[in-house]
Amino acid sequence: MAGKKIGVLALQGAFIEHQQAFERCGAECIQVRSAKEIAEVDGLVIPGGESTTIGRLLREYNLGSVVLGRAAQGLPIWGTCAGMILLAKDIADSDQYRLGLMDIRVKRNAYGRQVDSFEGELDIVGLGPARGVFIRAPYVEAVWNEAKILCTYQDRIVMVEQGPYLATAFHPELTDSLDIHQYFLQM
Ligand code: GLN
Repeated sequence: MAGKKIGVLALQGAFIEHQQAFERCGAECIQVRSAKEIAEVDGLVIPGGESTTIGRLLREYNLGSVVLGRAAQGLPIWGTCAGMILLAKDIADSDQYRLGLMDIRVKRNAYGRQVDSFEGELDIVGLGPARGVFIRAPYVEAVWNEAKILCTYQDRIVMVEQGPYLATAFHPELTDSLDIHQYFLQM
């Protein structure tokens, strides 16, 4: 996808792995930490990490409003894990900061302690099989309006698309597959 520039929000979390995955796809990908950088990109990834920390930094540096401004212009945004939480309108039992762009309700740390982190075989609508790496992952409890379920795992919703927004509860950037990065590039 020549000419398109992806930004990975690099305030906290697993941003380097996303950058490397996009570069392996042949796309230009920069780390973004400022309004100027957010203004430059054609797509934005909000990585996994700690959603309360990323949210606090978005608010403190006034970057949340910048992201929302770009979203209003149609900027495609993909959130993985903590990033998915930040995209949600509704976060179960939490009033933490969020961008609130997707019509989904998420539950944080939803898989409990014993299975804190695990891997599973996924089957994604339109993409087929994928390896899912879940790390203190959320899942989606409910979707409404135009939010479309792309993948469930053990009866729980783990991937959703809504217009220019994509959310994954798992971490494709920690696998060898570039399928979902390619998918986002097409968005
Ligand atoms: N548990 C984290 C949160 O609630 C998300 C974990 C992750 O991004 N790997 O923010």
